Amino acid sequence: MTSIFLPPPTQQIDNNITQNAGVKLSVLRLDLMHPWVNGNKWYKLKYNLLEAQEKHFTTLLTFGGAYSNHIFATAAASKLFGFKTIGVIRGEQTSPLNSTLSFAVQQGMQLVYLDRTTYRQRHTQKLQADLRERFGDVFIIPEGGCNLNGVLGCTEILQQAEDFDVVCVACGTGTTFAGILLSLTQKQRAIAFPVLKHGEFLKQEIATLLQNYLDADLPVPNQPACAWELICDYHFGGYAKVNNELLNFSQQFQQAHGVSLDYVYTAKMFYGVIDLLKQGFFSKGDRILLIHTGGLQGNIGIENPQRIKIGPIPSFKD
Ligand SMILES: *Cc1c(COP(=O)(O)O)cnc(C)c1O
Repeated sequence: MTSIFLPPPTQQIDNNITQNAGVKLSVLRLDLMHPWVNGNKWYKLKYNLLEAQEKHFTTLLTFGGAYSNHIFATAAASKLFGFKTIGVIRGEQTSPLNSTLSFAVQQGMQLVYLDRTTYRQRHTQKLQADLRERFGDVFIIPEGGCNLNGVLGCTEILQQAEDFDVVCVACGTGTTFAGILLSLTQKQRAIAFPVLKHGEFLKQEIATLLQNYLDADLPVPNQPACAWELICDYHFGGYAKVNNELLNFSQQFQQAHGVSLDYVYTAKMFYGVIDLLKQGFFSKGDRILLIHTGGLQGNIGIENPQRIKIGPIPSFKD
């Protein structure tokens, strides 16, 4: 199942900010593993797909918003690995379909829509039973691939990474971060950057997720002993909210280093790390690894002026 993926390359980022801070900054490019099935979404899907295969399911069903990276990756992975898929989409159908959903349909995903109130019930047995009644014997993967299989997959993200002291990850639910924590040693530390407002609550969620994972006796590359923290100051107003400063930063970073960032997740984390480097937050000599978790397909939803009014993006000047 993994042979179609390129091992994620590590790219060094060298500029006057990293030099002044005296650090070695690298990016683990999970965005380059496969054109469609990449980023942390692949790692979160992997063991879900393997379980579905083992249990002889032929159809997967999962959930997501209209611009969801998870819907996009699940549609493509299902086609590659021979599953039928149903995507349960939050909200009303729009016509024409946006690029995320039309891609999903091209990959063979069947789309169904749930109003927002019903969609909120997606974790309940009742709604899942209704969906099974409607669609037959489907293997249900939660939104975002956020379950213990997802954590397990994410313990493999750092397998091929070069040596480093600090790892930084953008954080939505914390599933990816939990997997990463389970693969670090005591000498390393990890920083999560929540992309939503009031992200402090994730501290408890991540601790619970780790506990549930350990209770389930799943494979643990390292005992979770490393120090970790959340830095909650770089949400830019909330989930999928952006401003010109963030858009400019992404554009500038892309031009300087050839790394495209998605606005919902990685741009906020990268912005935060660069800002912290300027403030002297890291120690001289630190080897810092940023995880590029992918998600570039979602930029189309932010760039779509119908969805978010951002005005023209000013051109970048030094
Ligand atoms: C989904 C996603 C995340 C967040 O992952 P969690 O496991 O929910 O914390 C981070 N980056 C990108 C690009 C994503 O698509």
